[in-house]
Amino acid sequence: MALLQISEPGQSPDPHQRRIAVGIDLGTTHSLVAAVRHGQPECLPDAQGGVILPSVVHYLGSGRRQIGAAALAQAAEDPGNTIASVKRLMGRRLADVQEAAKLPYTLEDGPGMVGVLTREGHKSPVEVSAEILATLRQRAEDSFDDLLYGAVITVPAYFDDAQRQATKDAAELAGLKVLRLINEPTAAAIAYGLDHASEGLYAVYDLGGGTFDVSLLRLARGVFEVVATGGDAQLGGDDFDQALGDWALARQGRETRSAADRQRLRAAARVAKEALSAAEAVELRAELDDGVLTQRVERAEFEACTKSLVDRTLSVVRRVLRDAAVAADEVQGVVMVGGSTRMPVVRARVSQLFGREVLTDLNPDEVVALGAAVQANALAGNAPDGELLLLDVIPLSLGLETMGGLVERIVERNATFPVAK
Ligand code: ADP
Ligand code: MG
Repeated sequence: MALLQISEPGQSPDPHQRRIAVGIDLGTTHSLVAAVRHGQPECLPDAQGGVILPSVVHYLGSGRRQIGAAALAQAAEDPGNTIASVKRLMGRRLADVQEAAKLPYTLEDGPGMVGVLTREGHKSPVEVSAEILATLRQRAEDSFDDLLYGAVITVPAYFDDAQRQATKDAAELAGLKVLRLINEPTAAAIAYGLDHASEGLYAVYDLGGGTFDVSLLRLARGVFEVVATGGDAQLGGDDFDQALGDWALARQGRETRSAADRQRLRAAARVAKEALSAAEAVELRAELDDGVLTQRVERAEFEACTKSLVDRTLSVVRRVLRDAAVAADEVQGVVMVGGSTRMPVVRARVSQLFGREVLTDLNPDEVVALGAAVQANALAGNAPDGELLLLDVIPLSLGLETMGGLVERIVERNATFPVAK
């Protein structure tokens, strides 16, 4: 039987033309854009060759703004107009933002949701996120020297309708066609090809810069269902930096004298922490108001002063398993996501809890964007035959009316689609 290529009105008249579709991880601290090129998903670099865009927007006044690393560099100088962690505000009212007091900029309720009062007036989280998305869209269009067909954007599994709608609105404002929003843990599982693996339960452990999320997914007939989620919105790599900085200070019997001092110590601790993921010992060096601080740190010392933080993530994991009435050994794969899962102790202890090696082959800060890119490529119709991702089920059966007013059911309810009969 011949297959007919049907093209819909408004779509590309040439069915063989490849549509450029990207996956975007719109993160709390970092955002990335990825696309499938030469059959493989890869993160797209900026002009300097880096793939990570800090999720920070700096409003300079008279319509000028900085986005990404340039904005981050201004955070200490102009905190009131430099907006980081805007994802925490998406689709929320002021009363819902528990961390409001900790944020260095001023919040005020706006139409429908909280916003930030900047020197350029009220900025909604949708507008701020749109700046980040537009930067990534521009990066993608420069990479391909072409316009984008659309994007798949990832959101945390626990995002409610208002938060998802705000994310869609931000994309629209950035001139992006949203092919679909998908859950971050689902994207990570897709990046590992688990949608082609055996049916059953998978866990995704995501420890980022400021947040921790764990999700339990069930794969059935190619569809991932989120069975349970848990996390701690105030626990992440930043807390490890803080703990290590405090430890070094105590070791030297010294104190910090200003907010800028504490900021420099945290930055130095972060550098030391990241180096300790590869080295057994490093030197922590911070220039403080009362002179330079240098402290040798062994990995075992770092692990001891941050043990309670790792413990906290593991108790969240145990609670999620308990709530879902699942035993740790029923989970047949554990995906590690987030830059903080580079810490060897985190990998070891999560492996120990589940009684199996965790999956770490892919870059943990890229894995969500990579999975979104695979999904975007399939939704744009670029995937080769037989490689369609089956991610949705049809809620009602479909049939044909035959002679005598009878309906022959052809596609059963809950079948995954696309489907051919
Ligand atoms: P988010 O999802 O919150 O946007 P990421 O997944 O990019 O954030 O994680 C950022 C965190 O990962 C930071 O706290 C950073 O210090 C940490 N990180 C990055 N590389 C390493 C490393 N080599 N060792 C330990 N932590 C790391
Ligand atoms: Mg993340």
